Amino acid sequence: MSFSRILGHDRQKELLQRAIDTHRLPHAYLFEGPEGIGKRLVALALTKRLFCETGQGCCNCPACRKIEHHNHPDLHLLEPDGQFIKIEQIRGIQKELSFRPLEAPRKVCLIDGAERLNPAAGNALLKTLEEPRPETLLILLSAAPEAVLPTIRSRCQRLPFNRLPRARLQEVLADQLNMEEEEAHILTALADGSFKKALGKDRELFLKRRRQLLKTLAGLSPNSILPLLDLARQMAEDKEHLTEQLEILLAFYRDQLLLHHGRNSDDLVNIDLLELLERMAERHPVAALLHKLEALFAARRQLDRNVNRQLAMEVLLLKLVA
Ligand SMILES: [Zn+2]
Repeated sequence: MSFSRILGHDRQKELLQRAIDTHRLPHAYLFEGPEGIGKRLVALALTKRLFCETGQGCCNCPACRKIEHHNHPDLHLLEPDGQFIKIEQIRGIQKELSFRPLEAPRKVCLIDGAERLNPAAGNALLKTLEEPRPETLLILLSAAPEAVLPTIRSRCQRLPFNRLPRARLQEVLADQLNMEEEEAHILTALADGSFKKALGKDRELFLKRRRQLLKTLAGLSPNSILPLLDLARQMAEDKEHLTEQLEILLAFYRDQLLLHHGRNSDDLVNIDLLELLERMAERHPVAALLHKLEALFAARRQLDRNVNRQLAMEVLLLKLVA
């Protein structure tokens, strides 16, 4: 993808373009900002601008295509191997960077997840940053820049990235990806400005399973405990998506709260479940909704502390249906 086709991040693209035009690219960047918002895409588009045979990042020339397929000999991608980026990986990169570029005017090394450099790897990388070679560009990416070694941070030019505004993300999902407006609205509201989430495997969770989860929840009653325990087990078993499931529940009660305050349906997340929302909002006075939201926040905090997941979900559901 070229600069012009990447959505949002206008200021960042402009700064990078100006650095290229004025021959003032630093030897190292640190792109920082939340996961899944397009830092890596921008880094690859920047590499295309630098390597492209037309100088435009055309996406069609052999250089651009090799970048797209991650097989350009002068582009090196580094990611954590397991939990960390290890010293052997950094040594491998240092060896590569000690050679002259083969096809491009310079070598680019992209280090994704820079906060996960283990101490030895971090110190090794520091050497490269302290004695930069003229024909190299390092781009470090991090969603947790405060966890990157300060000595590394200070040797990079930092470029912060922000989430896309909700309206923009919705527009993109609806127009460019041929998504129903209603679907785009729900995904955008739940995905918190993050593209990867909105488009990736969470799409199914957010669209279909959300409906199922909320309908099951709405059908629970404090008088019959078995279905409640069943749902708690189902939720706890999908450990990987537990946070997202809680987000869905949060949005459900938040929607009801908004209905109480006479907000129109544009502000709601679950616009496809309006009838259910209205029925539930009638059943729950504002004070009760606030208690339920509190219970959800408490459950989220507990999960961060690694409590028994199923027990936490049982307690939560009991509070939600009370
Ligand atoms: Zn090109």
